[in-house]
Amino acid sequence: MAKTSRLQPKNPGLFRGDVLGSERFSPSIQRVTITGADLGDFPWLGYDHWFRLFLRLPHQTEFVLPELSGSRWWEPYLAIPEDVRPHCANYTVADFRPEKAEMDIDFVVHCGPDGQPEGAAAIWACAARPGDPVAVLDQGLIFARPDDATEVLVVADESGLPSTAGILRSLPRDTVGRVIQEIPLTGDRRPLEAPAGVDVTWVVRDDATAVPGTAALEELRRHGRVDPSGYAFIVGESTLAAEGRRHVVRAGLPKDRVTFSGFWKSERKREAVSV
Ligand SMILES: Cc1cc2nc3c(=O)[nH]c(=O)nc-3n(C[C@H](O)[C@H](O)[C@H](O)COP(=O)(O)OP(=O)(O)OC[C@H]3O[C@@H](n4cnc5c(N)ncnc54)[C@H](O)[C@@H]3O)c2cc1C
Repeated sequence: MAKTSRLQPKNPGLFRGDVLGSERFSPSIQRVTITGADLGDFPWLGYDHWFRLFLRLPHQTEFVLPELSGSRWWEPYLAIPEDVRPHCANYTVADFRPEKAEMDIDFVVHCGPDGQPEGAAAIWACAARPGDPVAVLDQGLIFARPDDATEVLVVADESGLPSTAGILRSLPRDTVGRVIQEIPLTGDRRPLEAPAGVDVTWVVRDDATAVPGTAALEELRRHGRVDPSGYAFIVGESTLAAEGRRHVVRAGLPKDRVTFSGFWKSERKREAVSV
């Protein structure tokens, strides 16, 4: 079965850049725009093109990057002394303007039980100032729709919203299917460039205590028949990804027609389990 796009670079490029600006794009999303001399060469493929983002944290004065060899980055990264090791997190290209060497990155501003923003990358994004150094390590696409897929089903929480937006913008215009996109608040809705035959269902959580992804999973379980010749892409909190995959496979989709990825894991669930 031919796949359109499981494209992972063999020798991923590391691109340095600086922050150009940071703004609250919607109530729960901070958009950071970066630029840099070589960023215009980032080999953007559209869809859910993602990368590892290296950040200098507030207590650090130096910005030290791993010495890459081929596709190996983890060992060189760990070899950097802890006090200067940059923070690393995974993000998706929200938008890219090669002619200006500019990339937008959308960070979910997630909050802890005390209502304060948590997560080094999210906190960094909210405080990012022009000139702050960053680097992105190209990781290619996860989306891997077989060429013969009759329909596409995309399910995501807000951490997958940049993937959803990129996939919808990149899909052939005659694609049919459905998107189930969970967001924290109504104000996080945004225009999506979906093919006319793709229905978009926004699931607004509107509950600061609910675990993200739960509402999208419930909506997916209400989704009717799944075409065995289709393709599903399910990303976000790890339970949404794992249980979502289980659901569509039980509904008749072969496992090799499902891409699922736990983008992050809820601590709230871990706490509930360990009580
Ligand atoms: C391929 C891929 C692409 C991704 N693209 C994006 C993207 O474009 N935008 C984006 O915002 N995220 C994206 N993510 C998810 C992102 O990498 C994680 O959310 C990451 O944990 C954020 O790092 P952090 O430093 O802010 O928080 P961490 O230090 O990793 O986590 C701190 C705490 O925050 C919790 N947490 C982490 N993320 C969330 C969340 N989204 N909502 C609620 N609680 C959370 C953790 O459970 C933990 O308790 C992507 C992940 C993958 C694998």
